Amino acid sequence: MAEELKGFQQAAEDDDKPHEECGVFGIYGPGLDVARLTYYGLYALQHRGQESAGIAVGDGKAVHLQKGMGLVSEVFNHDSLNSFRGQVAAGHVRYSTTGASHPVNAQPLVFRYAGGMLGLAHNGNLTNTAELRSQLYANGSVFQSSTDSEVIVNLIARYSQSNLVEAIMKCMIDIKGSYSLVMLTEKNLIGVRDPFGIRPLCLGRRGDAWVLASESCALDAVHAELVRDVEPGEIIVINENGLTAHQALPARRRAHCIFEYIYVARADSRMDGYNVNQVRRAMGHQLAREYPAEADLVISVPDSGTAAARGFAEESGIPFEEGLMKNRYIGRTFIQPSQGARDLGVRMKLNPIRDVLAGKRVVVVDDSIVRGTTSGKIVSMLRECGVKEVHFCLSSPPIIYSCYYGIDTSNEDELIAAQKPLEEVRKYIGADGLHYLTLEGLFNVFGSGRDRFCAACFSGEYPVDVSKAQLNGKYVLE
Ligand code: AMP
Repeated sequence: MAEELKGFQQAAEDDDKPHEECGVFGIYGPGLDVARLTYYGLYALQHRGQESAGIAVGDGKAVHLQKGMGLVSEVFNHDSLNSFRGQVAAGHVRYSTTGASHPVNAQPLVFRYAGGMLGLAHNGNLTNTAELRSQLYANGSVFQSSTDSEVIVNLIARYSQSNLVEAIMKCMIDIKGSYSLVMLTEKNLIGVRDPFGIRPLCLGRRGDAWVLASESCALDAVHAELVRDVEPGEIIVINENGLTAHQALPARRRAHCIFEYIYVARADSRMDGYNVNQVRRAMGHQLAREYPAEADLVISVPDSGTAAARGFAEESGIPFEEGLMKNRYIGRTFIQPSQGARDLGVRMKLNPIRDVLAGKRVVVVDDSIVRGTTSGKIVSMLRECGVKEVHFCLSSPPIIYSCYYGIDTSNEDELIAAQKPLEEVRKYIGADGLHYLTLEGLFNVFGSGRDRFCAACFSGEYPVDVSKAQLNGKYVLE
């Protein structure tokens, strides 16, 4: 195999590891500054991805694109937004883990096909990319990037003899896995959600304008009102004739990602009927019932652990205090690709407030332990401050299975809970006590809606088949 092909294969293999914890946003608003509104929407979704950002604008005749590596505020400025006029826009923020941090993977992807121009922003992860890519290669398709999103683009183009909605429907029959898509043409805004509704996507309205976004916090940012969530298996098309909704594929058993509620989403978002903050608080209540600690203080690992920590304090009667100060100018620790950088990242990001903590027995609430790096560092920082006892409580059950639908919870051999029993994890992180929310307890929080979620990272029950090739994290390019 030629060297460059091997290089590409390696990049594609790296990229087949899910890391599409991205944010998508779109607006149809003739007469509005759609590029700037998309910029604000992406700003509100920045927590979903910090590697790259992009906006595509349709002006009735063409689709124009600006994208680059970095934060939304680094990629765009006043002048670039001013030069960007149109009636419809779609934007994307991309999350990165190891490898495959290439500008070419930044989105939206914009391409010309038989039907005109199309831009696509994807949040999610396909589980049959390898097979589809091989078939497309065999049929002469070419790829510029190693993303599964480009597979979607190629399939839509292949079905372009049909009208666009039919082409998307045919593509949806072929692709498996999770996808929330915001697409645009010169004149249309299109939203698509996979038949299980794994990744979130909601619809909002601002006067005559329509908005699509991964989370409702982005609707708030542009003064749009939440209308509803896009239904699993639904295609929504918005243009000068208004909004049309097509139930493209029958909705399957709902499988909304439960980890969105635990960690990914912003606490002020409302997703699939639940407010994230309220859910996290209820997780804290449940956690306190499951782990009746004797302690002086409850502190959180900000920000994702804060709502659950407050819930723990409410239920247990132990006072909540701000015990760890977060440097808000540092992105999520995971953004650091190497373990060494990640270790340093925790220190840079969180600093204990010694005067609050010294001599106290403390319950620390965080959302999850993945590799165990963060919690181990936090426990040792607390001990250095003279904390007497550290009880580490997690608002998620142990993560023991990899996610193939777009959450970067890493490979099973790196997941500490998959490798060590509870007591060993406790020793490893150096805590006096350790408790993970039980799966039963987590589901209780959602009451009667408990069967609407994907909790595969905790239970191993995957709602959508994952191809063998993808399970091994490899595929062969022959
Ligand atoms: P670790 O050090 O690997 O145990 O990471 C745990 C920390 O990472 C927790 O504080 C979480 O808030 C955060 N975290 C959990 N899941 C993810 C994820 N998928 N992406 C980025 N950060 C995460």
